Amino acid sequence: MTIHNNVTELIGGTPLVKLNHVTDGVKATVAVKIEYLNPGGSSKDRIAERIIDAAERSGQLKPGGVIVEPTSGNTGVGLALVAQQRGYRTIFTLPDKVSESKRAVLRAYGAEVVVTPTDAGPGDPRSYYDVSDRLAREIPGAFKPNQYDNPNGPMSHYATTGPEVWEDTDHRVTHFVAGIGTGGTISGTGRFLKETSDGAVKVIGADPEGSIYSAPSEADVHQYKIEGVGEDFYPKAFDRNVTDDIVKVNDAEAFEMTRRLAAEEGLLVGGSSGMAVAAALKYARANDLDENQLVVVLLPDSGRGYLEKIFDDDWMRANGFGDVVNRTTRPSLAE
Ligand code: PMP
Repeated sequence: MTIHNNVTELIGGTPLVKLNHVTDGVKATVAVKIEYLNPGGSSKDRIAERIIDAAERSGQLKPGGVIVEPTSGNTGVGLALVAQQRGYRTIFTLPDKVSESKRAVLRAYGAEVVVTPTDAGPGDPRSYYDVSDRLAREIPGAFKPNQYDNPNGPMSHYATTGPEVWEDTDHRVTHFVAGIGTGGTISGTGRFLKETSDGAVKVIGADPEGSIYSAPSEADVHQYKIEGVGEDFYPKAFDRNVTDDIVKVNDAEAFEMTRRLAAEEGLLVGGSSGMAVAAALKYARANDLDENQLVVVLLPDSGRGYLEKIFDDDWMRANGFGDVVNRTTRPSLAE
């Protein structure tokens, strides 16, 4: 009998699958690691589990404790999932621009959601950062994971994602590609693969055009539509020494690849996944990677959270991606 004791035992151990249709002439083997198969639907389940484990060990989180974090997305789901199984309350602060469906997911997992005005920036006492700080100070037994600074984020990837990639490729991986948000995924996985391969594995970051990680100067930092990746500051979770190269991808390139992954590879993934694959293929072409190279790309989450955006033709057109829609939509047979 194989019956898991509870759903958190299903975190990690995600599979690799080869890309066959979107690689368009790239000779290297490109395999993707499908993180949406984690129980909470993203790679963030890994960090949630390790952050909570560490906080229990250090005494920051005690029975009856409350987890407070400013997050609207995958990290919230991961934390809520692990927390409920261990009997902790979760409170997430998020700006009112976050869609009702994302708030509903967090509430469904039992989290309490505090909505703050989007126009209140960092430093404003009404902002979602400041409200989470205040709640963490005022609520007895509160613990704030702070995913941007918490070393257990990258450590979770060093301990799980890295070894999985290494073993599942029979030690033959030559390149690892991942988007950079907090930087935890690339720093932890990348460091493990570099140490274990004596520096042979190249680690390539993928970054939205406009984000600080790939911007030539401060004047090049601007808004972009890809979610979950890129920053306008350097978080502690990102180890800048791990990446050999950082490839810049614009919104249109990322969204076109996101739609192609669903339509051609059967992989309904989010925009940061499309971005990471687009970056991997750009890198493979620019560096003329051959048949002996094995590129592993991490796909952080599912496309289900983006049906009203990247997969909605009207939203795409309204946001200036009409060309992408035209290139990726099959003719309708309805006429
Ligand atoms: N993609 C998505 C959808 C995410 O939510 C995140 C996490 N912010 C990332 C990519 C980047 O992962 P990391 O924070 O580990 O750099």
